[in-house]
Amino acid sequence: MLEWLRKHKNTITMAEAKTVESIRETLEEIHHLQDRLADLNGRLRRGPVLLKNQENNIQKAAAKLDKIKSEHQKLLAESNQKEQEVAAHDRSIEKRRTQLAEAKTNKDYQALQIQIEAALRSRGSLDDAALEAIDKTEKFAENIPPAEDEVKKAEELYEVTKKKFLADKPLIEAEAADWTAELKDAEAKLPKEFREIYNRLVQSNGGNEALAVVANNKYCGGCNLQIPINSLAQILAHKPIVCSSCARLLYVPKEYEFDKG
Ligand SMILES: [Zn+2]
Repeated sequence: MLEWLRKHKNTITMAEAKTVESIRETLEEIHHLQDRLADLNGRLRRGPVLLKNQENNIQKAAAKLDKIKSEHQKLLAESNQKEQEVAAHDRSIEKRRTQLAEAKTNKDYQALQIQIEAALRSRGSLDDAALEAIDKTEKFAENIPPAEDEVKKAEELYEVTKKKFLADKPLIEAEAADWTAELKDAEAKLPKEFREIYNRLVQSNGGNEALAVVANNKYCGGCNLQIPINSLAQILAHKPIVCSSCARLLYVPKEYEFDKG
């Protein structure tokens, strides 16, 4: 930009050109510092959010495991019940067989024999039901290890993230403190009329959205709006110009070429 200003020194003095370049450099420096700070603050903010999400994932996985385990307990109780039914059935057959051996009359003997035959016929289906229930329970139990694994993995991920964040946090904070000190120094270099507008925009837009560089010669780097030629000329004449669309204070890049067309 200094080159362009030198070429036009019939309208601008060298001293003025240097002032423009120094303001430009300061705004650029502030913008870079604000971007870095926004990135660091973003990392500080996202850390706990990420941990909270991962904590929720542990709880979800644990709840799923609990549900599977309680369903398994239910199936186990049902299959035990069915096994007991088979055992009780066998005991009643045995009892009747003993009674049969001790039967006093032919009538008793025949009645018992009929009962035993009926009991033997129904035993098969009871046994099948018990085996089916055991089989179902065993198959369902296969869901437990993957669900346990899911809880373990979620816990491990949380621990790794937490450890990393706790280790990174003081480093990020120290870096942010350094950049903040540099930012204060840079901000102090701004001429009063720039500093007032800049301070107001930091309040309303947030630090890294207080400034935008002119991109591709004539577009706002913040919102891509085409900047009027008048405004560009004013920026080059070291006037504080704010984008009419996104309200960022504009500055031009170092290798800026003013294109009047
Ligand atoms: Zn804009």
